[in-house]
Amino acid sequence: MKLIFLGAPGAGKGTQAEIVCKLLSVPAISTGSIIRDAMKSGTEAGLAAKEYVEAGNLVPDEMVIKMLQDRIALPDCKNGYILDGFPRNLSQAQALDRMGVIIDMVVDIEVPDDIILERLAGRRMCGKCGAGYHITHKPSAKGEKCELCGGPLITREDDTPQVIRDRLKVYHDQTEPLKDHYHAAGKLAVVAGTGDIGDITKMVMAVLEA
Ligand code: AMP
Repeated sequence: MKLIFLGAPGAGKGTQAEIVCKLLSVPAISTGSIIRDAMKSGTEAGLAAKEYVEAGNLVPDEMVIKMLQDRIALPDCKNGYILDGFPRNLSQAQALDRMGVIIDMVVDIEVPDDIILERLAGRRMCGKCGAGYHITHKPSAKGEKCELCGGPLITREDDTPQVIRDRLKVYHDQTEPLKDHYHAAGKLAVVAGTGDIGDITKMVMAVLEA
């Protein structure tokens, strides 16, 4: 199964992708995580991506398409995958078509902007393994440390108020038009992304099994 999870930053794409990928036994691929890892290890691509990420802009298509292409060529992707954060615009969607990737379904996780702003402001991430948390909705049982690896919880550099507003604008201008694109292809399923994480997973699984 090849799936795309679409939605604004903070809509819960990553959280749902991490849960659903285990249920479907396929990897969840987050281009945001791939880019952050590259930035952390200081690779050429990571250094080039840094200024875009920190300004809340999209990293140039050719760079992110190459990263995605390399990732889906790995053996663990042979039975499918969930794409979280890719494609982010029409030209990335067209790149998937050119690679011969046939997407089974696009799950659009819908969350109003005011809730997105509140969520992103309270979001925390493990500085070591990248696991996601939220100060009120998904706190770590280990306080300021990651439940999984004990790493320190940090605020992402692009989760500051100004960058959050810029990222939401980029989402509405460039990514949201993909809804029409995949709706026209008969592949779009819409799920409300507000409420309990487990309930949202049930709705996602229901549309995938329909
Ligand atoms: P995310 O973790 O998905 O919110 O992504 C964090 C940042 O990484 C974004 O704000 C972009 O700067 C960059 N990024 C992630 N995925 C893409 C993509 N598909 N195309 C361009 N930039 C991306």
